[in-house]
Amino acid sequence: MRTVPALVVCEHCDGVYRRRAPGMREMARRAQCSAVLYLASQLDVDRWLVLTVAAAIVFVIANVCPVIRISLQGLHSETTLWQSAAVLAHGAVAPIALATAVMIVVAPLLQIALLGWVLAFARAGLSGSASPTIAARSLSSFATARRICRASRR
Ligand SMILES: [Zn+2]
Repeated sequence: MRTVPALVVCEHCDGVYRRRAPGMREMARRAQCSAVLYLASQLDVDRWLVLTVAAAIVFVIANVCPVIRISLQGLHSETTLWQSAAVLAHGAVAPIALATAVMIVVAPLLQIALLGWVLAFARAGLSGSASPTIAARSLSSFATARRICRASRR
């Protein structure tokens, strides 16, 4: 299958149109059928960075607070995500514990950290006060982060 990213097809009338770069918060709408062809991103680097910091805070809360609490006749038991993975590691299903820890703790942590790292450097590169050395280091770090992200998808 051949893809042509410069063109967009209307979902309603199958008309083909040349895509142009939309401005911030712009929308491409077809005049004949008034269908929305595509939307510009609503988020700039600062907003992505704020969402990443919020995700990091939620991640910490999710890993510190108990996710399950059982109460029965005055006895209480509660566990966190880490504790549930650690309990699995001691049983016969130890390989599942590793997969569980990677899926619920390590992978989200890496994703949030790498996104925050890339966005912090992107923000430093976008600000006018960045020196050429910082800009070069930002590009190098960005390339490294992209390589890590690509490797983690495989
Ligand atoms: Zn259309």
